[in-house]
Amino acid sequence: MVLKGKAVSRGVALGPVLRYAPFQPVLTKELLPAGGAEAALAAYRAARAAAQKELDGLERRLASADPEQAKIMAAHRDILLDPAMDEEITDLVNYDGVSPDAAADQVFRTYAGILRGSDNPLMRERAADLLDVLNRLLRCWAGAPERDLSRLDRPVIVVADDLYPSDTAAIDRKNVLGIITQTGGSTSHTAIIARGYGIPAILGVPNAMEALEDGQKVVLDGETGEIIADPSEAEEAAYRRKSERVAAALRDLDAFLDAEPVTRDGVRVQVRLNVAAAGERELSSAEHVDGCGLFRTEFLYLNREQLPGEEEQYLAYRKVLERFGDKPVILRTMDIGGDKQFPGSEELREDNPFLGLRGLRLSLERPELFRVQARAILRASVHGNMKVMMPMVGSLEEYRQAKAVFAGEMDALDREGIPWDRDLRLGIMIEVPSIALIADLAAQEVDFASVGTNDLTQYLCAADRVSPSVRAYYKEYHPAVFRTLAYLARAFRDAGRELSICGELGGDPLAIPALVGLGIRQLSMGAASVPAAKRVIRSLDLPAAERLAEEVLHQKTQEDVRACLERFASGLAGQEKEA
Ligand code: PEP
Ligand code: MG
Repeated sequence: MVLKGKAVSRGVALGPVLRYAPFQPVLTKELLPAGGAEAALAAYRAARAAAQKELDGLERRLASADPEQAKIMAAHRDILLDPAMDEEITDLVNYDGVSPDAAADQVFRTYAGILRGSDNPLMRERAADLLDVLNRLLRCWAGAPERDLSRLDRPVIVVADDLYPSDTAAIDRKNVLGIITQTGGSTSHTAIIARGYGIPAILGVPNAMEALEDGQKVVLDGETGEIIADPSEAEEAAYRRKSERVAAALRDLDAFLDAEPVTRDGVRVQVRLNVAAAGERELSSAEHVDGCGLFRTEFLYLNREQLPGEEEQYLAYRKVLERFGDKPVILRTMDIGGDKQFPGSEELREDNPFLGLRGLRLSLERPELFRVQARAILRASVHGNMKVMMPMVGSLEEYRQAKAVFAGEMDALDREGIPWDRDLRLGIMIEVPSIALIADLAAQEVDFASVGTNDLTQYLCAADRVSPSVRAYYKEYHPAVFRTLAYLARAFRDAGRELSICGELGGDPLAIPALVGLGIRQLSMGAASVPAAKRVIRSLDLPAAERLAEEVLHQKTQEDVRACLERFASGLAGQEKEA
């Protein structure tokens, strides 16, 4: 059987399927029948024993590979077996007739609430551990298998309806050979993370969860978007040949990692890094690039029960700044909402989240969160070369309001004698057409801007960037995208202000010649895109790139644009061969 989807992260993989669906507990609402307590408590003890067995196993497996995690598993076991909580659960079952799952939920949440109210940040963090243990206990009660992508015990190809940033942020990169999801497209966060981690991925495969079974062997081709289930020997052999070819091509490209991104006629293009989870692997690319063009700070807010406090944020920002030394780091304030939810955002569920309270809008509506972030950013700003930008800006009023929040925190820090960078620049992301269309005016007011082409395309085409049903309408090469970029580049050049691109288009080797031809000199991209981007830049001549850009601006359809870009790319490839 062959399935097809959108190849969003290069590479090929062969392995067994792991169907992933996060566990959602459904608590028993009814009280126990008279005399039912004893049997219910026996079932509760069995669930607890099963949870304990899982934790024992995890602790053993992690003992040498990750001793810190192993310690956490041991602490979780202590929580699970805590005699005080156990007594309260048992009392609720015996005396109030509450079903053990509902009783455990009530008791664990009460204790988690007490911890959350503590003044001690370490105690507050324990609340998340309590809820993690509760989830395990309730899953064992329901008899559902463990599904956690951060701790896998064997290599697998993950198949899911969708993966949330909270699933992918902590994904076990060693054991996830490939990713297949039913929803999502090339600019969804799953795609961005998969590319960042170098995991081959195919998204937008309808019915993947139904068609594939746990343990079934599949070949995933992240070049063509094809998934072959139960491959024949010949298909496996072809996979192995291709896998070697892809690995060799990636090795060739690696030669460009440290090359200077300068065109043949001497135009220097800045190649910067997009940073998401700020893990070691990502940050290790800092030395190969000209700075960080997008630090997606919202990853600090995901995959947790509690919002990050000022100190935690300060330390995270400082770590990234120090890693980049003198090189610029453009930190983006939290871009939550859309497909990125955060603790407490459940009550915010909207019918059209991408048109709702996301990005800067959420920050302005929740000033108590925004102020904490602004303070942490300002405190960190003295540790490197930082700039700050706001996502999802629709108007200059919003920019002004954000600036006022920063100004308020600057004053507060001054009163406390805490230093911050007096040269700090505040910029915006251009993602919403309403700000793009007044770019000439915006360029006079904001310190700099960076174009988020992922969202800009979504809003220009009015097509949800993660929905496979409108994938054909989300056109990353729509002539309107290039025309908007041409207008933006001109407006910012005339105002003498910096404009960069940090959406996926900025790291797309096919699009880069036209972007350079439009006058864009700053590109920011995921680590995996850096070598290919540098290679393309080094093969360019500016006049030829400018002619290409002009030609692209006169195309009528996405396919016409693509054809122009491909013709140009094959010309470059021919030129490289001759050289
Ligand atoms: C974008 O929209 O292009 C962008 C860079 O931001 P994100 O992908 O995080 O929404
Ligand atoms: Mg965006």
